[in-house]
Amino acid sequence: MTIDFPDLRFNVEHMSYPWTEELLSIMARSPNVYTHIAEYVTPEPTWPNRTLLLARNLGMAWEYSVLDRVFYGSDYVGGNIEEYVSLLKYEIGWIKKKLNPNMEKLGFSVLSQHEMEGLLGKNVLKLWNGASEHVQAWAMLESLGRTKWP
Ligand SMILES: [Zn+2]
Repeated sequence: MTIDFPDLRFNVEHMSYPWTEELLSIMARSPNVYTHIAEYVTPEPTWPNRTLLLARNLGMAWEYSVLDRVFYGSDYVGGNIEEYVSLLKYEIGWIKKKLNPNMEKLGFSVLSQHEMEGLLGKNVLKLWNGASEHVQAWAMLESLGRTKWP
């Protein structure tokens, strides 16, 4: 898909767990492929070692030079805003405080301030900015009364 449609932007969920290394090798050659880290950090983890797996996967993403296309996602599917905000606070707080000690524990370099800001927000903006260009183009076509593509 990334070879046939090089301009199409992809977000691969959950770092393609459990095929993370395959994803990272695709990302290394395909600059429009992004991925998020939802479900690696949760208040009640289904898989208790996923936070170490996250550190390992981010260390691998750094080695593949694709860490700037990895971003935080909540994967929240509920409908309670207070629960959602609580989840965001827990997960983002955990990432800020405990991710780098886990990176060190596994022998990887810690994330710099710049890399942490990318993971927690700036990296996804690159994906969304591209999407917003297409949304604007579509809105413009619709405003002209042209609803079939192209
Ligand atoms: Zn998901």
